[in-house]
Amino acid sequence: MIDRSEILGILSGYNESDIKIGTICSHSSLQIFHGARREGIPSVGIVLRENKPYYESFPKATPDIFMEVESYKEILTDHFQKRLISENVVIVPHGSFVEYVGSDNILERFRVPLIGNRLTLYWEGDRRRQREWLEEARVNTPKIYRNPSEIDKPVIVKLHGAKGGKGYFKASNKEEFYTRFNELKVKNVVDGLDDLVIEEFIAGVRYYPHFFYSVLGEKNLPRLEEGRLELLGIDRRLEVIDEIHRGLPLIIEDYLDYTVTGNIPVVVREKYLVSLLEDTIRIVSAARKLFYPGLIGPFCIETIYHPVRGFIVFEVSARIVAGTNLYPNGSPYSVYYHDEPMSMGRRIAREVKNALRMNSLDKLVY
Ligand code: ATP
Repeated sequence: MIDRSEILGILSGYNESDIKIGTICSHSSLQIFHGARREGIPSVGIVLRENKPYYESFPKATPDIFMEVESYKEILTDHFQKRLISENVVIVPHGSFVEYVGSDNILERFRVPLIGNRLTLYWEGDRRRQREWLEEARVNTPKIYRNPSEIDKPVIVKLHGAKGGKGYFKASNKEEFYTRFNELKVKNVVDGLDDLVIEEFIAGVRYYPHFFYSVLGEKNLPRLEEGRLELLGIDRRLEVIDEIHRGLPLIIEDYLDYTVTGNIPVVVREKYLVSLLEDTIRIVSAARKLFYPGLIGPFCIETIYHPVRGFIVFEVSARIVAGTNLYPNGSPYSVYYHDEPMSMGRRIAREVKNALRMNSLDKLVY
């Protein structure tokens, strides 16, 4: 794993008067470029040649510089990394960046400074490790079944790695589990039980709150060791299963699919905010303890509100999530922190600007 000191060494060679924010043109990049522009920071878009005209067509959100690639594999080449470094680029690693470059490659081979803590990739990428993090935080989580023979209520079965819900299935007992498992085995999607996580299916209402944790900001919440936590928006993901009613009265099998296809804005009843913030503070503290300095910048917790058990956290996405694309001009929550329209992309750029002013860019970067 590339050591933080090596990345900070590279950062120390950067020209601070010419820092640029960069990412791959995909996922939440329009918001990131738009936000950088609003903060007066130049941006760099790494773009597939054929996608460039589309990214040029948004005049308020095109990056200042395009770096074209034939394939995302080029990003890892020495030549390309040197080019990013010579342009003083700090990368915002959104979901597609992590997917296309690969989290192992980012940890082992990508030497360009990232905004955020690279170690989160290691902790969030593996569902078992992520569970250790949530257990350390002592938040409510769905029960995990180590063995299919223990299944005593509906479960959701997940493959490793972020697949945006693709390929997940439900089962109510061990027979149903093995029917689906054997189908996946025949298709070579899985090898053995180790390739899957069997998780209690939680019935309830899903909320995906987006947070920004500023290591530079002043402490604004009790029990936060330091830093400032801002709730910048909430969404709910639109998954194929959400449309299942359209097939009624029959349950059409194709609708039993958890693939994320979009996002819709939601607000939570205000009385629930306290509990959501408390859970999030615990997750921030646990991250500091397990992989210091823990979370830096944008992240999202994925929760289901259960009428009896309260919020149950089933995942943390330790980076900017696509649900933030709902709020390029701010959200029903961002207005309580900022006087100007504050998207997550802009908040990241604002933090970079503050860090440059405070001579502390190293605190945001690994
Ligand atoms: P991403 O990394 O993009 O969040 P992922 O592949 O890790 O995607 P999850 O977020 O874990 O996928 O799950 C996809 C969807 O499956 C969720 O948005 C939710 O609707 C549903 N889901 C996940 N876990 C549970 C659970 N324990 N009970 C009920 N539904 C769940």
